Amino acid sequence: MQRFANKTAVVTGGGRGIGQEIARKLASEGAKVAVVSRSAASCGKAAEEINAAFPGSATAFAVDVADHEAVQELAKRINDELGPVNILINNAGVTRDGLLMRMKEEDWDTVLDTNLKGAFNTVKAFMRVLMKAEDPRIINIASVVGLIGNAGQANYSASKAGLIGFTKAVARELSGRKVTCNAVAPGFTKTDMTDELTDAQKSAVIGNIPLGTFGETQDIAEAVAFLASPAARYITGQVLAVDGGMTM
Ligand code: NAP
Repeated sequence: MQRFANKTAVVTGGGRGIGQEIARKLASEGAKVAVVSRSAASCGKAAEEINAAFPGSATAFAVDVADHEAVQELAKRINDELGPVNILINNAGVTRDGLLMRMKEEDWDTVLDTNLKGAFNTVKAFMRVLMKAEDPRIINIASVVGLIGNAGQANYSASKAGLIGFTKAVARELSGRKVTCNAVAPGFTKTDMTDELTDAQKSAVIGNIPLGTFGETQDIAEAVAFLASPAARYITGQVLAVDGGMTM
């Protein structure tokens, strides 16, 4: 299937984990993909790996999505180098976990600035181009904890719940131009982010997942690819949980 032939996509946080898998999936079906992450080394390596499988499909851009000006510049560069964007995937995200009692102001600010303001920055930067694009899509990677909360993640849960509200507002504002905006809410997925959990924490989490296992990055990428495809043109403002049944 080449669902993304002649499409240009931006994947923030594409340097590893879920973002890299989304970028690889879109490239595998014909998209030109801008792989964005903070570190040049990480997005460069991800783009190299994707290009090894799908030559010429991926270009790396090292940008901090929390930096409003830098994201405006990024949008100009991508437009010049890859052409007008059809698909924007807001996947960049960080955690700074800790119980509220001990959470520092900078832990709150860093998480909100990346996970929520980062999406505001990219949507502002790309919306004019998306409004004129064919099959325009915005997909925000939220989290199950944005739906149900999690002790020790007040900052992260708030950022992801905020991202879900943002998704619905953007879906309504841009619906007149046929830009769809949806969220995917992954459950616990095997990446560097969840490698930080102890074995005891992992066992406790698995006890709450009806399908009895962590998800793979491919599980998230498949759902994102469907929402990004022309087949999903009548779906907007939705939150698709890909979580092994955790939040049913
Ligand atoms: P990850 O392995 O930690 O990768 C995060 C990616 O985001 C990296 O490429 C990182 O770039 C990039 N990034 C972080 N801050 C950034 C910034 N300010 N500007 C640009 N790029 C930035 O994370 P993951 O597990 O794949 O998670 C991806 C998304 O899914 C996140 O939004 C996360 O909240 C969400 N999610 C994950 C899980 C899970 O279980 N893994 C569950 C629910 C939701 P650098 O390499 O340059 O730092």
